[in-house]
Amino acid sequence: MVLHDRLVDARVLDLVQGERVYVGKEEGESQPTAVAEGFAVVLGVLEGGGWPDLAPYARGPTLVVLMGVKRRAWIAKELLRLGRSPSEPTLFAERATTPEERRVLAPLGEVAQDKVAVASPAVWIIGEVVRVLEGGRQPGPRGGLGWRRRFPFQTRNAPHRAHEYLIRLGLELADGVLVHPILGAKKQDDFPTGVILEAYQALIGHFLPEERVALFGLATPMRYSGPKEAVFHALVRKNFGATHFLVGRDHAGVGNFYDPYAAHRIFDRLPPLGIEILKVGSVFHCSLCGGIASERTCPEGHRDKRLSISMTQVRTLLREGKAPPLELVRPELVPILRKGVR
Ligand SMILES: [Zn+2]
Repeated sequence: MVLHDRLVDARVLDLVQGERVYVGKEEGESQPTAVAEGFAVVLGVLEGGGWPDLAPYARGPTLVVLMGVKRRAWIAKELLRLGRSPSEPTLFAERATTPEERRVLAPLGEVAQDKVAVASPAVWIIGEVVRVLEGGRQPGPRGGLGWRRRFPFQTRNAPHRAHEYLIRLGLELADGVLVHPILGAKKQDDFPTGVILEAYQALIGHFLPEERVALFGLATPMRYSGPKEAVFHALVRKNFGATHFLVGRDHAGVGNFYDPYAAHRIFDRLPPLGIEILKVGSVFHCSLCGGIASERTCPEGHRDKRLSISMTQVRTLLREGKAPPLELVRPELVPILRKGVR
């Protein structure tokens, strides 16, 4: 069964084999406001022409506004008043999914000043996710569609050297890697989502084979629930078409709360999930090995020469106005990371 509204092109609907159910609404009809995790969908016009209360949804990472074209300036002003940034990217997709689709990009502040011309019907997407939609690298015909072995790289952080090592490991083993950062709410001491995306764009654009790396965000919050979240992350990536999933040391952990290998062991107790789980140990810099190494590649005797890599350290150094050493993070990314440290 497929639920659809009038924005779906008739030729797309003709492809549906099962039952089709029209659930669209015209302006002025009643419709509930739906809120999903990580993003909210709100209506610009409520029953009888009413104005929506945006306060409950204003702070989510991604906001999708339907039927908001006529009131876009008012909605934008309201979101600014509720604390969103005027520089935040937004995207209107006019006649989305049809061959006539037209995309209009504009920062929230310009929409508030009524400087942006858009025609109905249009879906309006507000949030950092727009940077990925427009500037990001999605698997295109040249890459993603032909990838047989597809690795996602789950992350909630800007890339340090150990993350880069795991992405490169994925590139060695698979046809392509999907860098898939969490766009939703994170701990106060994690980097803001915009900084994380900008840092990955710089890393991929300058240091990785772009045609084999896709960057796309996942609109869900971090839960820091360790092993159970590792299973959730693996299943979500399976649904995104991934064939393998990397589970590192202390996946989705927080502080010292979980046993660092509990997220490895939980997969041994589960039936096959339809995605191959690759367990990797701790990754660090070792001066004797002469680079980034892991528990599986660096001998025990080097233990004293291992430098652990964590974003907490990087943030501490940045906050003190110091440059983190290049064993921890690429110097080229430091100016971007600085923007995310108060
Ligand atoms: Zn070593």
